[in-house]
Amino acid sequence: TTRIVLAERPEGTPTASTFRTETAELPAPADGQLLVRNRYISLDPYMRGRMSAAKSYAKPTPLGEVLPAETVAEVVESGHPDFAAGQLVATYGGWQSAAVVPGKMARRIADNGLPESTALGVLGMPGFTAYAGMAEIGRIQAGETLVVAAAAGPVGSAVGQLAKAAGARAVGVAGGAEKCAYLVDELGFDAAVDHRSADFADRLKSACRDGIDVYWENVGGKVLEAVLPLLNLYGRMPVCGMVAQYNATGVPEVPDRLPGFMRAVLNQSLTVRGFIQTEFRAKHWDGFQQDMARLVAEGRMKYREDVVEGLENAPEAFIGLLEGRNFGKLLIKV
Ligand code: NDP
Repeated sequence: TTRIVLAERPEGTPTASTFRTETAELPAPADGQLLVRNRYISLDPYMRGRMSAAKSYAKPTPLGEVLPAETVAEVVESGHPDFAAGQLVATYGGWQSAAVVPGKMARRIADNGLPESTALGVLGMPGFTAYAGMAEIGRIQAGETLVVAAAAGPVGSAVGQLAKAAGARAVGVAGGAEKCAYLVDELGFDAAVDHRSADFADRLKSACRDGIDVYWENVGGKVLEAVLPLLNLYGRMPVCGMVAQYNATGVPEVPDRLPGFMRAVLNQSLTVRGFIQTEFRAKHWDGFQQDMARLVAEGRMKYREDVVEGLENAPEAFIGLLEGRNFGKLLIKV
């Protein structure tokens, strides 16, 4: 297998020297294992956390080990009774061309008529994150207003479209005119605001005349600051990600905003609840597969993929993901 390993832990933004490409012989699969050939590798913002030694919800990747990733793969050789050679699975195949994985960490890709790559996007982990976080925490109601940032990405675009499907207003925040136009023209968001515009906070306020009932937190930073004064009574804030901070090396030199935040939580009776999607898997996975596939089939859940060809381009693509250079679900086609 050709594989990309973690060569050194990045300080701030990852660079070429964060990564090292190697080749290795894979063993034959033991009992319960599968030898798979990766076809698509999912690149996701959480991987930045795995590159650091800091405490997080998941263990850091040890230096010299293959970077972790979910993949769509073809079974080449099966040591597990539930799988046979030639089948397509979603599994944790990592940043490499082939892998030996435990069969219990693989699932057959549903035969829903959609491209196999959707198992890593709209019908995979990011789509599920949107679905479960909305069901459990966001609980958007008809007539309410939702704001989501990183809105052109796989999580944000699903969040906004779920709000629309529920009869709510959806306002997206994204970087650049092209992504903003996509949100309104293609996905049916009611408004989109470019977070790089100089008068971002004013524009967001104009787009949310009735305030904000659900702020889906994907990024933190100045988007959160602009949202805070607009939140309505009983507003909900599913805290899903903080991508604006993943490359940060320390606490930024800004005035302490925590007291103002806590005051808003109290005065507006806000619910602020962080989550990692895995906690909702048992309860919501099956319903998600059905509901999401139906919404996609009905044209009410559109998705966009940003497919980069070649494993060797994964480091550059990943660095771009944290800067918004991707447009849609970022995938490596091996
Ligand atoms: P995306 O494909 O949307 O990629 C991240 C996007 O974040 C970039 O494209 C960029 O879009 C935006 N961004 C980066 N920096 C900033 C910034 N400083 N200010 C505003 N926007 C910024 O990623 P995903 O849809 O895969 O993930 C979205 C979020 O959800 C992430 O925070 C991720 O960590 C989180 N997540 C959480 C899960 C959980 O279980 N809690 C599971 C899955 C994802 P733009 O060009 O618009 O700025």
